[in-house]
Amino acid sequence: MNDSLSIRVQDLGKVYKLFPSPFDRVRETFHPFRKKFHQRFQALSGISLEVRKGETIGVIGRNGSGKSTLLQVICGILQPTTGTVWKNGRIAALLELGAGFNPEFSGRENVYLNGSILGLSRREMDECFGDIVAFADIGEFIDQPVKTYSSGMYVRLAFAVAINVRPDILIVDEALSVGDTLFQAKCFAKFREFQQRGITIIFVTHSIDLVTRYCDRACLLDKGVLKAFGPPQEVIDRYNKLMLEYSHKASRTEPVFCNLGKPSAGAGGEESFHLNPGENRYGNGKATIEQVGIYSSDGQPVQALKQMEEYEVRLTVVFHGRIDSPVIAYTIKDVQGMEIAGTNTVYHHVETGICEPGERLTVSFAQKMLLRGGGYILSVGCAGYDKGEYVVYERRYDVLPFEVAARRPCVGVVDLDARITLSRKKDVPA
Ligand code: ADP
Repeated sequence: MNDSLSIRVQDLGKVYKLFPSPFDRVRETFHPFRKKFHQRFQALSGISLEVRKGETIGVIGRNGSGKSTLLQVICGILQPTTGTVWKNGRIAALLELGAGFNPEFSGRENVYLNGSILGLSRREMDECFGDIVAFADIGEFIDQPVKTYSSGMYVRLAFAVAINVRPDILIVDEALSVGDTLFQAKCFAKFREFQQRGITIIFVTHSIDLVTRYCDRACLLDKGVLKAFGPPQEVIDRYNKLMLEYSHKASRTEPVFCNLGKPSAGAGGEESFHLNPGENRYGNGKATIEQVGIYSSDGQPVQALKQMEEYEVRLTVVFHGRIDSPVIAYTIKDVQGMEIAGTNTVYHHVETGICEPGERLTVSFAQKMLLRGGGYILSVGCAGYDKGEYVVYERRYDVLPFEVAARRPCVGVVDLDARITLSRKKDVPA
């Protein structure tokens, strides 16, 4: 078999047996004349594809198109009804919630159990256990039974195991969308690292954006059939065409996730927000950003925002030395780490003037939230020129995670709030 190949799937088919009731399953098993009580459901048919070593493949398709079934067959969790799967190297998988962990065992026990299923020795697991615990960041829950975990904690641990057991192939179902914003950002950073290390990645997503950004190729499934497999843009075009055809039948809004909860009410100071404990804060100390927050139009601190509503990004800087015309800025990154938006006082020709030691300057950026639904992270900064040199007084990178709930699906990263009008004309015959 070709050594540059990672996975080869040939003429794969999967049939599920659908029983009208659990009792019918028992009846069929024990029927003296082997009478059939089930109906056959063809979840996958005739799928052939090859994935090269180090490729990242995005699997897209409508709900129920067979994406999870395909991943489970590739991982060996499900047996194919027809066809073969060949894989080169160790597979670590993060599949749907519930798969992979024994709920009665503690996190620690499950980590070791998973390791042994993947063929790692106890010593190898001892070596990576620290990294797994550090990445999962679930504190002393590691020694609690997994059944006591929230879905977020479950995913954190499952992902931490999957990426730390030195896989050759990483397979990720949509489980990641369960994690919170900061965790997702951490996972996508890990994706990049894996790509650099030449690890093959296959992941299911509903996000076209992720496919264009991360994938070498994409595959489109529809009703269990491989409709397209090739360059992301071509496959996305097919997908969009398919979705348009289906959208005549049903219009639905993109799911949005909101895991941040409501910031606690109060004075609306920084203590009101769930800030990122791992924010990156640095500068020369001549100014400190002592408060940062996002506020709704009625002045409430918010981290779950609604698209198309007005919000204020507000920060207060305290000066410890005399600073001439500091530049105050914010930027917004999405969970995959891409800078999506940002501005500063200079771009808007707002003169901040001379700021004296002990003075506090509160800067408010008010705008309509046009970003599409999803998780984001706010960074803020205070910089400027000191004797002609560009200096950073203070930056707080990735300080405040927030979510935007979309009003409707859109293409790309912003919804430009288009208003659609139609005008129709027909020539009347003379
Ligand atoms: P996707 O991941 O694209 O949403 P799935 O692979 O989960 O699709 O499912 C493909 C089809 O197979 C769906 O119609 C689903 O209802 C059906 N299916 C999935 N798992 C089972 C099962 N264990 N038994 C019977 N049908 C199933």
